[in-house]
Amino acid sequence: MCGIIGYTGDGYAPEILIQGLKKLEYRGYDSAGIAVSRAGETVICKKRGKVEELEKKVQSVDFSDSHCGIGHTRWATHGEPSDVNSHPHSGGRRVTIVHNGIIENYLELKEELASKGLYPVSQTDTEIGAMLIESMYDGDPLSAIYGAISKMRGSFALGIIFSDRPGTIYAVRRDSPLIIGVGEGENFIASDIPAILPYTKSYYLADEDEAAVITKDSVRFFAKDGQELKKELLTATWDEQSAQKGGYKHFMLKEIYEQPAVISATVGAYKNGTELFESCSFDFDIKGKIYIVACGSAMHAALLGKFAIEKLARIPVSVEIASEFRYDNPILGSDDVVIAISQSGETADTLAAVRLAKSAGVRTLGIVNVWGSTLSREADDVIYTYAGPEICVATTKAYLCQAAVLEMIALKLAGSKLSEEEYTKQVSSLDKLPEYIEKALESDSICRALAQKNLEAEHQFYIGRGQDYCVCTEASLKLKEISYVHSESYAAGELKHGTISLVVDGTPVIAVMTERARIAKTVSNIKEVASRGAAVICVTYDDVDVSDFCKDKIIIEAPSELLAPIIANVPLQLYAYHIADGRGNDVDKPRNLAKSVTVE
Ligand code: GLU
Repeated sequence: MCGIIGYTGDGYAPEILIQGLKKLEYRGYDSAGIAVSRAGETVICKKRGKVEELEKKVQSVDFSDSHCGIGHTRWATHGEPSDVNSHPHSGGRRVTIVHNGIIENYLELKEELASKGLYPVSQTDTEIGAMLIESMYDGDPLSAIYGAISKMRGSFALGIIFSDRPGTIYAVRRDSPLIIGVGEGENFIASDIPAILPYTKSYYLADEDEAAVITKDSVRFFAKDGQELKKELLTATWDEQSAQKGGYKHFMLKEIYEQPAVISATVGAYKNGTELFESCSFDFDIKGKIYIVACGSAMHAALLGKFAIEKLARIPVSVEIASEFRYDNPILGSDDVVIAISQSGETADTLAAVRLAKSAGVRTLGIVNVWGSTLSREADDVIYTYAGPEICVATTKAYLCQAAVLEMIALKLAGSKLSEEEYTKQVSSLDKLPEYIEKALESDSICRALAQKNLEAEHQFYIGRGQDYCVCTEASLKLKEISYVHSESYAAGELKHGTISLVVDGTPVIAVMTERARIAKTVSNIKEVASRGAAVICVTYDDVDVSDFCKDKIIIEAPSELLAPIIANVPLQLYAYHIADGRGNDVDKPRNLAKSVTVE
């Protein structure tokens, strides 16, 4: 995953690079480093640990007169997190690079370099890439870069400086994200938009295997045949404010509280009266089966989508984990549709699933949060979520927007299968979603109190049936991700087929009940765990009386049963947040995780 940044201008490069890395830290934070090019020499400073460790180390290095450089925050794939494996990596005397991605054939390339007497000092694939460029460099940076990448397999976004080209950054990408920010008398490269927002909203996107040559006054693009390319200058729609904490203790909390607004923006973008997705070019006339491919929380949103689409539109839906789907040799028919969901639009496995579907002649629809991302460009059609920049590694608002979009797709596909009255009622309830999320946020104090009560519990279970089981999958993941508490989600009726053996006196079991037809059944399951000592928390409507088997209840109100899972998710985000915060965890940057998984 990793985040890369580059700066060239009149400013003090180390400071600008460090600030940029802080914005990209959600992409990986096991080590960080910067390198600046300064009249004939390159100065590197790197360190295992978070960017703030690097920031301290940088103070002790002579970085005077440094106005051009590259930086990196790492999520290790090849080689443990250590000082020596941190980026930037030097290829020898003249070439220094930062890399996001994986050079898959690095062992092969390593042998080739060894046969020339060239050996790396780190265990990374990246250093091999740096050495390869260096070995091909005869004074022409672009031909060295193209020569090297023609031998490289895998994914990369590379920021490269040459010690004999001070003031110039070279960049190239394949399957990893890269933007080139355009300022006044200063220019940037970055893995993602928030890193450049304090300086500029104008940026270029580099396409596959295109190289950019960046100085403080110019940005030029080249194809591998040496031809100069003309690119369209884009403007970021996100503002700097939205990428800052704005008084909240953590980005996660801020992002939870942004949900009414971002849901309103997302629904508003695709709803015009009772018409849905008028502005979307996707043809909703689906004759075959729908595959929804995604990873992590996006996959949990997909589960909700499947539930709603099958219930309302009666179209068969299969939810597929992207990393499995891509190698499953799936049975795809020409009438089928693949919907791929990814917040960043850069999730490697999801992109591979889309490419597979396209090669099988199947229509693809991307649901994505980042404009111009690879998924948005590669899917045949795109529906954007309007979540804005999501900085906390654990998703909240982007997931909720994905879920809302899928509920809307279900309604769109159901169309005339519902009576006009029912359709209008369902679609109109979307307008009330922000207001009901706002109400759900009012449960913060009870969520905090319940979190306090269960702070020490090492196992927690989430149970529900139907759409509520889908809510549980995401709620349980949220708790695991940020609190490091073991948790599982279970279809309520399934618990007694094994997992109930883990329920002992005081084990928290959170039961979600929004689907009225199944509440009685879930209540039976709650009684089963309660009689074995479970401390049950019910998330349900005010009129559902749970008082004789459960003391703790989080009340939700929803504009419709279809949309209730979206509402029910909100207090469970708050509950997970307060447990993680109460346990003193780094909520926004949970251990071992990175936000956009751009590697397999
Ligand atoms: N493969 C590189 C490393 O392990 C970059 C990792 C990444 O981008 O996730 O350092």
